[in-house]
Amino acid sequence: MFDLVLRGGQVVDGTGQRPPYCADVAVSGQKIVAVGDIAGGSDGPAARTELQIPGLVVAPGFIDTHVHTDAALLNDPQHESGIGMGVTTEVLGQDGLSYAPLSPENYRAYSQYMSGLCGVPPTDLDMSSIAAFRSHYHRKCAVNTVALVPHCAVRLSTVGFEDVPLTGAALDAAKDLVREGIDQGAAGMSTGLGFFPAAYATTEELVELARVVAEMDGVFVIQYRFFNADRAEGLAPVAEALEIGRRSGVKLHIAHHRTTPANPGDAEGLMEELDRAVEDGVDLTLDAYPYPCGSTMPVCRLPGWFVEGGPEAILARLRDPEDRARVEEFLEEINGPALGHTSWSYIGSERNRHLEGMAWSDVAAERGVSVAEMMCDVMLEEELHCGLTVLPPLSIAVWRQIEADVVRLLNRPDYMVGSDAIPIGSGCHPRAFGTYPRLLGRLRRRHGVPLEQLVHRMTGNPAERFKLTGRGTVKEGNFADLVVFDPDRIDDLASFEDPRVPPVGMPHVVVNGQLAKRDGSCTGVLAGEAVP
Ligand SMILES: [Zn+2]
Repeated sequence: MFDLVLRGGQVVDGTGQRPPYCADVAVSGQKIVAVGDIAGGSDGPAARTELQIPGLVVAPGFIDTHVHTDAALLNDPQHESGIGMGVTTEVLGQDGLSYAPLSPENYRAYSQYMSGLCGVPPTDLDMSSIAAFRSHYHRKCAVNTVALVPHCAVRLSTVGFEDVPLTGAALDAAKDLVREGIDQGAAGMSTGLGFFPAAYATTEELVELARVVAEMDGVFVIQYRFFNADRAEGLAPVAEALEIGRRSGVKLHIAHHRTTPANPGDAEGLMEELDRAVEDGVDLTLDAYPYPCGSTMPVCRLPGWFVEGGPEAILARLRDPEDRARVEEFLEEINGPALGHTSWSYIGSERNRHLEGMAWSDVAAERGVSVAEMMCDVMLEEELHCGLTVLPPLSIAVWRQIEADVVRLLNRPDYMVGSDAIPIGSGCHPRAFGTYPRLLGRLRRRHGVPLEQLVHRMTGNPAERFKLTGRGTVKEGNFADLVVFDPDRIDDLASFEDPRVPPVGMPHVVVNGQLAKRDGSCTGVLAGEAVP
């Protein structure tokens, strides 16, 4: 007798090669054991649980290539945001930002630096290695997790939160940490050159680290440079990322690369330079999410000199009148009026909680100060526990054009879907609850994308890139990570106005053979494993 049979659905198998076809799917233990016509038992049912799903699609569970749920999963392991939208595997450790390998002191300090992005993880966990990090998620949360070795942790563990070159013995130690992390199961390494201490790095440092990742056949995930352009050998941000790929030979993966309100409609122009690099031999993949604006933490708006030394030093500079004046001038100069076109997504304290969802321009006006001053004040009041969402463009046409661009980019076989989920705060970005159903629902229908192609970008494609053996496709012998959805009804309900609403049209989600969502509700089963 099988443990579970999904009966009468249309299989979209995740390969992108085969149109939907009618088949039953049988599961025993953690694995898919049969796909085809499964007879009912002659003296009783064929499975302990049978779900009739005529008219619905059964597809591999979605593999989210870019999330910031490293703390959210520890604090709320049922993870309704991810499971709710059909995600069964999440790639953690993104943008160089995560918690291991770190000493207890560095773990506590860096948790505070990252708190606007991730919230606060439990303080007493062993984060001294990637193996320890993985153990905190293994069979303790609803989704499978993949680790990357985060560049910031590597720098913190070797040269601290200092603006110094990583060379000589320190560079050797950093390379050992990367090697060890991948040995312990990380799928590769990540950097984020809009975050510190990663952005203190030169191109040469990044090439050196990427070479280790290449030796180990891992993926090097990069958020390209925002700070310290002078360390990039005269290269613009995208050119620098490609140069790292070219010189190291690593499998390069560029995170959240899409058009913005500055270049809507120019998906082709966006890719020209990258396509030339691929012709030159760069091994490149990318991801994107279907929204016109992003979300992050305000600490990443601050330049390198201001954040050097870590959270205590940042708070001291926020209190210092001269440093404050200088950084506010920097913020106004580099962002202009766009700085106010932002809202507070997450606020740590009760006292300021009412700011969640408020536009920065409104908060500043209410307080009678400039936007930059208000931003610095709130960071200080919250001791950095505050996050932001950029507001969507005022023109709906621009918004729709960027969505069309994302759909067009996802036509390319080198693209996959990464939600960039940050599921904290009442004003969080709707991508944490809506990315996958938004693409499979309204955007697929609006643009007439073949279902099997879009599903491949969410499943088989990332499984292959991140070497998640036995996942990403519906076939016998694979792990039973599955989603069941109604192709005509599926849609996101999470909006900027009401971002924490689960989608419709996706009744069941299976992780490692167990129902994590059934009939539209999370079950509380924590069957996720640290993979691969
Ligand atoms: Zn990110």
